[in-house]
Amino acid sequence: STGFKGKVIETLNNVFGFQDFINSVQEDAIKSVASASQDVFISMPTGAGKSLCYQLPALAGQRNGVTVVISPLIASMTVQVKQLQSRGICAETLNCTVSKEEIARVSEDLCSAYPCTKLLYVTPEQVFTDEFHSILDQLCKNRMFAYVAVDEAHCVSQWSHDFHPHYLKLGELRKKYSRVPWVALTITVSVTVMNDVLYYLNLKPPVAVFKASSFRSNIYYDVVFKECMDNPFDDLKSFALSALGKEWEFTKRGSGIVYCQTKESCEMVADKLTKLGLNSRPCHAGLKDEDQSQAQHDWMLGKISVIVTTIGFRKGTDIPSVRFVAHWSVAHSVDGYYQESGQAGGDGQPARCRIYYSREDRNLIMDILKKDEQAAKTQEEKIKAHSAYKSFKIMRKYCEEAHCRHSFLMKEFGDELYKCKKYCDVCYKPRSVDRRLDHFEATRVS
Ligand code: ADP
Ligand code: MG
Ligand code: ZN
Repeated sequence: STGFKGKVIETLNNVFGFQDFINSVQEDAIKSVASASQDVFISMPTGAGKSLCYQLPALAGQRNGVTVVISPLIASMTVQVKQLQSRGICAETLNCTVSKEEIARVSEDLCSAYPCTKLLYVTPEQVFTDEFHSILDQLCKNRMFAYVAVDEAHCVSQWSHDFHPHYLKLGELRKKYSRVPWVALTITVSVTVMNDVLYYLNLKPPVAVFKASSFRSNIYYDVVFKECMDNPFDDLKSFALSALGKEWEFTKRGSGIVYCQTKESCEMVADKLTKLGLNSRPCHAGLKDEDQSQAQHDWMLGKISVIVTTIGFRKGTDIPSVRFVAHWSVAHSVDGYYQESGQAGGDGQPARCRIYYSREDRNLIMDILKKDEQAAKTQEEKIKAHSAYKSFKIMRKYCEEAHCRHSFLMKEFGDELYKCKKYCDVCYKPRSVDRRLDHFEATRVS
């Protein structure tokens, strides 16, 4: 039918000013959302064009009225609203930075019989205020409640970096306004996180799922064992230099990230690397805000080559020319590892990701997770602690067994790949991996 699909293309070209869809996942997802026949789950990496998957159907989909967009990031929300407004689209936000007068104006519009507003951006906190519920009730009564889009929906899962407790309650809304179709959008996530999203948001089955592949073909992955090395810092330095490339000595273009378990080890690793001639700076939550931003700023400008940070610490910006990501201590989950290592090679050029695994780190993490499990009181805490433990076991397997690293990760992310052939140590140097694993086994203390 040329009906709404024609309108979708016309809106893409004339309202958004795009010639075509940016990729086939975007195209398929938009057509599905626009048809409004079922709930939709979309997962694509940052920058792949997820916003359009609800923005375009909000204007050209089969449903009338207002699309409510839930997003935890006020800054990005404000940017999106401005961009939409500059394209002549009526978008509003009701986040806490908006004045009382503005809120009154927008609320009045939303409660009218034919609201102008097409997209309404709100934070997850706001969704649960009485004022907001009466707005939604009114939209529903007027048959002007088009869609709910949950951006950054991985925040519902504690496995994502950005777990956001308010997201857990959003599922109540799905039940209350049961006829309004939902769209959930995430970065690339493991099957576990995807299932959390479907479950906690109460998405209505059968959910249409659209996912971009998780394969990062330009990244070379490997794992080494700290306890089997005479001097792991020397190894880290030569790993860094080889990832940065020969040109780097002259151009200083390209940089790296090292992840550590604690603030103290960040300081220590940065200090060691700097003394070995590789300009490095620690950046962690223990530093003053201005020192953190200074470190990030200097790193982005190339004044320092390596930033050393704690696992799970969120950096403000991604830069494309990261040539390596080293985990000085193993990540706690595959989702964490995929996101952290995935900061390498954003420009599509070759990049390397290495884990410095150690039995000591592993046992420390296992102890912490076991204690959490024992301390858990409520059923929910128990389930969480147990899945944290299970999730870490998958990282253990990644490090302690010889499987193609790409295939291993992709399987966790619900994609398929038989073997990468030469983009990981297991495929490229199987004998040396076997030797390293034997050596690691042999270091076990009885
Ligand atoms: P994500 O939310 O997946 O990180 P965004 O929605 O922020 O990605 O989009 C990333 C960029 O891609 C934006 O600048 C957006 O304008 C652009 N973009 C999205 N769709 C298209 C398209 N079909 N054609 C060209 N550019 C697009
Ligand atoms: Mg986005
Ligand atoms: Zn491989």
